Order: sequence, then structure tokens, then C-alpha cells
Amino acid sequence: MIEKSIKKLIIYANRHLFLSDNDLIYAQNMLLGYFGCAAPYEGEVDVKAIEEMEVPDEIVAELTDDLIAQGLSAGEAERKVVFALGALSPRPSAVEDAFDELYQADPKEATEYLYGISVANWYVRKTQIDKNIVFDAKFDQGSDLEVSINLSKPEKKNSDIAKLLVAKSTSYPLCLLCPENLGFYGHDRHPARGNLRYVEMELEGRTWYLQFSPYGYFDRHCILFQKEHEQMVVDHRIYATLLAFVERFPHYFMGSNADLPIVGGSILNHEHFQGGAHILPVMRAKEKAPFKVSSPNVQGAVLDFYDTTLVLKSLDKEELLSVADKILACWRGYDDEENEILHGDASTCHNTITAIARKVGDEFRLYMILRNNRCDSRYPDGIFHVHPERSHIKSEGIGLIEASGLFILPARLKRQGAEVEDVIANGLSHEEALAKYPDIEPFFPMIEEMKTKKLSLHDYLGSVCQNILHDVAVFKDNERGRAGLAKFLEVCDL
Ligand SMILES: [Zn+2]
Repeated sequence: MIEKSIKKLIIYANRHLFLSDNDLIYAQNMLLGYFGCAAPYEGEVDVKAIEEMEVPDEIVAELTDDLIAQGLSAGEAERKVVFALGALSPRPSAVEDAFDELYQADPKEATEYLYGISVANWYVRKTQIDKNIVFDAKFDQGSDLEVSINLSKPEKKNSDIAKLLVAKSTSYPLCLLCPENLGFYGHDRHPARGNLRYVEMELEGRTWYLQFSPYGYFDRHCILFQKEHEQMVVDHRIYATLLAFVERFPHYFMGSNADLPIVGGSILNHEHFQGGAHILPVMRAKEKAPFKVSSPNVQGAVLDFYDTTLVLKSLDKEELLSVADKILACWRGYDDEENEILHGDASTCHNTITAIARKVGDEFRLYMILRNNRCDSRYPDGIFHVHPERSHIKSEGIGLIEASGLFILPARLKRQGAEVEDVIANGLSHEEALAKYPDIEPFFPMIEEMKTKKLSLHDYLGSVCQNILHDVAVFKDNERGRAGLAKFLEVCDL
């Protein structure tokens, strides 16, 4: 019964979304009109149960069912519910004001407030996030990695991302990261954003917005996006913005994807960063070898990690930035034929950097992962990309989160992993396995490897992720690679 769900939703908003007692009648009448009801529900509802809720999923499910029973499609029902939750949440301006006031006392309180609203109003789909399969991959040698089988995120191919980059968007809002998403009702090709809340901030002379990710991959996964819909470009300004952000919010890291397809994120046409409270595996990696930097206030080191990661550390933001600038400028035009690194020409540059900033005490740290997106006939999808023998596990581009050691694997692996385990446990032959699971063909090498090496599914997935990062490394961990990296750092003349 819609009227009953509305009553529950109003009580929920009153207890969890700062809906004032004085606005209850008004809010209820608004929703009654919006959902086409004549009068409120007069019966009792379990107020205590609503007070104890941490997320609105139960009420959302009831209301959605009511709407579907009335003949709405599942998509339209969801949009209506999202819009209602947005209408019951504090106005964006009120969120801004509260955030700014809390920030004066403690930056962490401010971000916790924004996160709390985003979870309570169903923007961050916490229930769904909590269902993801997450485990640590540990190895005899080398840093631990983290693996998550994400049950909510659709898998994107690199070719789709490249198409998106050239496709001219004619819709409104232009993309998922444009500020015009705030309160947007949504349709079949654009998700409902009625309940989105973000806060504005000026960083390095530009306007940015901070919001939480609806399907967060880790603790407090947030997105910082620029006001203007402009293509991602990694340059001095980007590094300066990352460092300015962590100076303001020292409890979060903030990272920028590379600005090229194959080695970047999935949305390259709107400048944005990703951050959060999580300590990513790369941040726990040991330092392998320091490298010389002329500035006495900046320390540089090569990290003992699988891909090619440098770290810069300094108490002085500006000095750190000038070293980072030199590394980027040198890398953009760098060639090392022996290591298959060619930067391209004036029209196509293949070299770029994935950068992540964080603060540890008073010290600024900038992690710089060297990337190259060149393809050749042997590796048409990318030389420093997931190699084909591993694409049954992951084929998407390796963005900043994965390059930092946290792998987001596609939802299909939950089913496919269970099928592989079943084939091994029951000793099914090739033919029997195919008869039972028609799309298991690409997984036969995996079944063989797990059997011979006596690996569990998690062990196997962990080792594939480790090897993917080896694929991504521009300077491999062998003699030729180590010599190449040493030469690059020398040429940089830091
Ligand atoms: Zn945009």
C-alpha cells in the first residue's frame, strides 16, 4: 500500500535525513500528491524499527513493489523512489552550509556528514556494496593485493571507453560527472540522481565538487570532479589540485587516472579524481631504492611494487610539485626501445602517469605510476595492458585503483568461479564440463593450473592480479627493466 510506505518514508526522513518535525505534514502531502494518493495512511507503523534502520532499503523495496503493482516499470519505479528520497533530504544548499560549518571544527566530521546523508538517502547503495566479495591476496614475496568481485558494476571494454571519448554527447546532463546531475530525475539512458548531494570547493583557482561514489569500491570512496565538462589532462595543475585537496582533507587520499585510453579510467571526457579513506596496497609497499633529487627537502624512491611506481615525499608541497613536474615532463617524451617504451609523436602521445596524493602526518606523498598505452600486432589491446591469457579474469583498463593494488573484478566471476570449483571438485572431463557449463571454454587453462598447483580460487585470482600488474609495468622487474628505470631517472635530472 503506497500510503503506508509514504508514512514510513516520512518517519525515516525525520529520524535519518534531518527532515524537521515542522515539515512533516508538508512533506507527507507533497509525497501523497507525487504518488497520486488522496489521503495519508491512518494505521500504525513500527516506528522503532524505522529508527533502527541504517539504510532505507526495506522501505524502498516496499514502495517499489507498490509502484510496480500499479503498472510502473522497474526503472520508472526506481526513479520515482530516488526522486522522493531526494525531496526528503536536506536541500543541496543546506548540505553545503552544514558541511562548511562542520569543516571549521574538523574536516573529517564534514566528510562523515556528507557520507552519512548519501548512505541514508540511498545515493550510496551500501547494502549492495556490502554484498561484494572482498579478500586479501597474500604472496610469499611482494606486497599484498586486495581483490573485490563487484556484483553491481557493469564490465566495460576498452573499445567502449575509446568510443565514448570521441562520441559527441548531445544529452543533458552531458555526462555522469557533470554538476547538472544534481537532482536530475533520470531516464532509461541516464541514472536517477534525485538524491545526489555534493559540496563545492575552490582548488587551485578552479571550482570542484566532492561527492561519494554510489557503488564505492572501498571505504569512503569519493569522487572529486571539475565544474566544467572538459577532457582529462594530467599536468602540473592536476598534481597541485591533488595535493591541495589532501592538505584540506588529510584523512583522505586523492588520485587522478591517467589521461589516455587503455591506461586510464572509464570516463575520460570529464576531469575528475577518485579518493577515499582506504590505505591502498601501493601505499603499504616498501621502498626498493631511493633516487637522487636535487631538492634537499624532497625524498624520492622506487617502490617495491609490481607496476612501475615512484614515490615523492616532502613537507614542502611546492618543492615536491616541481620534482613531480620534471618527472612528468621527462616521461611524456621518453623512449626506451629495449623496454618497448615509445612515446609516439606530436599528434599521439603514449606516455602518461597515474598519480595519487596523500598526507602522512605533516608529510605530503605523491605516488607516480608510469604508464604507456601503446599497442602492437602482438598486443593489439595494449602492450602494458592485461595480456590475453588473463582476460578471462579481467579485460577492462587498469585504472588508478587497480594500478594501486585494489582489483575490482567483474560480477560474472562469482558464477564462473563457482563453476570452475565445481568442475575441479567433481573431476568433470572436458566434455562433461562443457555440457554442464556451455561458456566455460576460456576457463580450461585456469582449471588445469588450479589442479596442478593445488590453488584455491582466491589464490588463483590473486596470482592473476599480480601478473596483471606485471603486464602493466613499463619497466619490468628484470635486469633490462631495472637498468631502464635507472637510466630514465638519470635522464630526468631531478
Ligand atoms: Zn561532464
